[in-house]
Amino acid sequence: MGRKKIIAGNWKMNGTPTEAVALANSLKDKISGSASDVVFCVPAIDIIPVLEAVKGTDIQVGAQNIHFEESGAFTGEISAKMLVDVGVKYVVLGHSERRQYFAETDETVNKKVLTAIKNGLIPIVCVGESLTQREQGITVDLVRLQTKIAFKDVTAQDAKKSVIAYEPIWAIGTGKTATNAEAQEVCAAIRQVVREIYDDATAEEIRVQYGGSVNGGNASALFAEADIDGGLVGGASLKPEFEKIVNY
Ligand code: PEP
Repeated sequence: MGRKKIIAGNWKMNGTPTEAVALANSLKDKISGSASDVVFCVPAIDIIPVLEAVKGTDIQVGAQNIHFEESGAFTGEISAKMLVDVGVKYVVLGHSERRQYFAETDETVNKKVLTAIKNGLIPIVCVGESLTQREQGITVDLVRLQTKIAFKDVTAQDAKKSVIAYEPIWAIGTGKTATNAEAQEVCAAIRQVVREIYDDATAEEIRVQYGGSVNGGNASALFAEADIDGGLVGGASLKPEFEKIVNY
C-alpha cells in the first residue's frame, strides 16, 4: 500500500485565538474528509481553541515546538506532555526559523525528537539547506547529516511513524519554489539515508514532505513526485488557497 500524503499548515506566529478559530472554521468543511492527513500546526495559545473548532472532523492539530525536557525550571516553554494532554498529535521540530532565531542545533532537535516520540507525539522534522549551501553543492550531504543526527537513538518502529519535511531555506516564504526535480532529488536522498540507518521497510513507510512556497498552483505537481508525500505549507496555509493544496 502506498504512503498516505500528509499536508500540514505551519501558521507560524500568526493569528490570535479569535482569528485562529475563524480561520479553522472557514477551512474545515472544505478540507476535512480529504484523502490526505491534514494538520494545522498553530501557535501554542491557539491550540486549545483550534482543537475545539475542528472537533468532529479528521483534521489534526499540531504544535510548532516543544522543550526537550519533560518538565521543570524552563520559563516560557511548553512540554510534550502538556500538548498530548489536550489532544495534540504532531509537532514541528527543527524548523529553519527556530534554528536561525532560537539557536536550535541538530543535537537539540534530536533531543526534542526523542522527547516527542516518548510522549506519543509524531515529529515533523525539518531539514534543508541555505542558498549558499545549495550553491556549494552540499545539499544532499547536509540533509543526510541533519537526518542522521535528528534520528539518533530513534528506533525503526518510531521512525516509521515520523515525518521529515525537506525545506530548502531559500524557498521558505520567498515565493521561490524548488523545481519538482530538485525537491524530488532531495526527498529521495532523505529516504535513502533512512534506508541506510534502518531498513527498506522504514524507508518505505516514513513520510517525506516538501516545504517552501507551496501554493495552490504548484502543489499537485510536487506531490506527484515519487518521494514527496505531501507538504509543509507556511504562507498559503493562512489563506483560502489551503483548500486547493489539500484537495490538489
Ligand atoms: C514553512 O514555514 O515551513 C514554509 C514552508 O513556509 P512557506 O510555505 O511560506 O514558504
